[in-house]
Amino acid sequence: MLDFFEINGALNDLDRNAKEDCKEAFEKIEKMTEYNQLKVLSAFIKNRVSESNFAPTTGYGYGDKGRDDLDTVLADIFGCEDALIRHTFASGTHTLTVALFGLLRPGEKMLCITGRPYDTLIGVLGCDNPIDGSLADFKIGYNQVDLLPDGTPDEEGIKKALREDEYKVVYIQRSRGYSLRPSLKIKDIERLCKTVKEASPNSVIMVDNCYGEFTEEKEPVQVGADIMAGSLIKNPGGGIAPCGGYIAGRKDLIEKCSYRMTAAGVGREVGASLGHNRELYMGIFHAPHVTGEAMKSAVFAAALFSQMGYEVSPAVNEARGDIIQSIKLGDSKKLIAFCKGMQSAAPVDSHLTPEPWDMPGYDDQVIMAAGAFTGGSSIELSADAPLREPFAVWMQGGINFHSARAGILMAANEVLKIK
Ligand SMILES: *Cc1c(COP(=O)(O)O)cnc(C)c1O
Repeated sequence: MLDFFEINGALNDLDRNAKEDCKEAFEKIEKMTEYNQLKVLSAFIKNRVSESNFAPTTGYGYGDKGRDDLDTVLADIFGCEDALIRHTFASGTHTLTVALFGLLRPGEKMLCITGRPYDTLIGVLGCDNPIDGSLADFKIGYNQVDLLPDGTPDEEGIKKALREDEYKVVYIQRSRGYSLRPSLKIKDIERLCKTVKEASPNSVIMVDNCYGEFTEEKEPVQVGADIMAGSLIKNPGGGIAPCGGYIAGRKDLIEKCSYRMTAAGVGREVGASLGHNRELYMGIFHAPHVTGEAMKSAVFAAALFSQMGYEVSPAVNEARGDIIQSIKLGDSKKLIAFCKGMQSAAPVDSHLTPEPWDMPGYDDQVIMAAGAFTGGSSIELSADAPLREPFAVWMQGGINFHSARAGILMAANEVLKIK
């Protein structure tokens, strides 16, 4: 590191100790990554992925074999009946929106059982304010069961809610997002699905799987969820997909979503791939390894900042269900220093200095570090923090551990300069 980066001598020992602390967690991550990589490889082989699958289509995109085969490959990887993976999903929020509007009809209701959903979903649901185009605007009802004070789902509250009303969709968010609650592990999702199916067998269980893909050996649709969705500029795009999203799960439900994705009666028959198939195949192929690198980066950051005396979540050896790491820095100056340090070791835009700004939709100023090949990609090393108590930073990503480690060390280096 010292050949290339100017770092505080004190960090040498901290770095060495941190790497030692990571050993057990890294071994587990490597085993899990190998399992998922072989799962992906065997799905490619089984479906005879060919060079001709990468050929572009234009216009309507009828008969795009590369596009249709990739849907089957993804369904096999996730161990479910069917999937839609498209570069035309503009973001994770758009993908989740297509799934929700595909499943729900006016007069029906959805119930979120993992507390308040991710920020960008609030507008989609229209739960605070029935804005134009939201589910509420289409007379689709919303309710939620708050998490318990320790951040875990309230099973008794969920049973009670399902006894009291009928819900077409029961919604679970796997990742912690930018909250301090723990991510849900696959075994937690399995238990929740069992509880929901017992209380309300006809409800469709949908999982927001963002940041969760390939962090464990199974996915939510293999343990009771009916459908899940996620973003390709996070884990399953492998840092290669330039944009897009996926929906995966039960065949009848995927068909409903396909009619919302394009048009009723047309569904998945149209949608030109324009030459993006190759990047989507390559991305999903690399996704298990890249997710493993991001998990190692998160574990290393947890270890290093623990060594420095900061409270981290999750802890080094805690089980993980997403790629997010939070670090309580306790001081706005340290938060800004962290983001500046991380930015300075990014492969792209390293010369820029992140500044706190008034981001639309947020009450406090927000600072972000991101130096990515893909705009907004958070499978690449990145950090975000609102400037408010407890001055915690959320970091995620790292498409290769060696480079992400440099970013984390430079973040620590800047934090050490603040007295
Ligand atoms: C990223 C994310 C989303 C979708 O966000 P986009 O920025 O629209 O891709 C939704 N839910 C969770 C938990 C996420 O992490």
